[in-house]
Amino acid sequence: MGIEFRDVTKRYPDGTVAVDGLSLTIDDGTITVFVGPSGCGKTTSLRMINRMVEPTSGQVLLDGKDVRESDPPVLRRGIGYVIQNAGLFPHRTVLDNVATVPLLTGWGKRKARDRAAELLDTVGLPAELAKRYPAQLSGGQQQRVGVARALAGDSPVLLMDEPFSAVDPIVREGLQDELLRLQSRLGKTIVFVTHDIDEAVRLGDKVAVMRVGGKLAQYGTPADVLRH
Ligand code: ADP
Ligand code: ADP
Repeated sequence: MGIEFRDVTKRYPDGTVAVDGLSLTIDDGTITVFVGPSGCGKTTSLRMINRMVEPTSGQVLLDGKDVRESDPPVLRRGIGYVIQNAGLFPHRTVLDNVATVPLLTGWGKRKARDRAAELLDTVGLPAELAKRYPAQLSGGQQQRVGVARALAGDSPVLLMDEPFSAVDPIVREGLQDELLRLQSRLGKTIVFVTHDIDEAVRLGDKVAVMRVGGKLAQYGTPADVLRH
């Protein structure tokens, strides 16, 4: 599913302009990375896609349709969401963290757990870790579980907000490779937020460079962006 921002501005109630006149088109089946320093409006941009944040003006379209025409719970069923530190349920096992999503959409318990185990395998988590609780995993492993949970909804769109920022550089590279491998198979529309330009260039089909004040400074392929 393609995504389009049409002259989108977000001003928070305290007057902060987080995003200022953002216009860009994200093609179906691509990875687009929003990159820029802390506070430049990356997270706000991402959250306007799944209506966690409403624009002050302008429009966000998903598959050609204004997201405001969809109820947030319905919209979010079609949009996976991964955050830094994974945001896992601490009192559920790793397997149940992932199985919760298919369970909620009406799958039986057995089928949901089988599906969860399959997804954990997809993201490279060793099967013996599935019975643990999130706190018993390393940071990198927790992020893998977070990705598996986001994939469990089978949604065509995946929003990833600094998903790998809390893990050390070597592990991060492994996770990046895995994401690229996964994407070559799944072909989802992925919108990825990072403050790390190297990560942006590595992962992005397109890179959107933002600057403080919420303006889009550059938008293009990694090669385009590096040239400037
Ligand atoms: P980034 O993801 O690039 O770090 P954010 O989108 O989180 O940027 O924030 C952009 C700007 O909006 C920052 O100045 C931030 O302090 C401000 N901001 C974010 N959320 C809120 C909020 N709920 N209320 C007021 N200001 C906010
Ligand atoms: P991180 O070291 O941050 O977890 P990875 O998730 O890539 O990075 O894990 C590296 C490897 O180490 C994985 O293959 C994982 O199976 C293994 N590993 C790490 N901790 C454990 C553990 N407590 N039990 C079993 N295997 C582990």
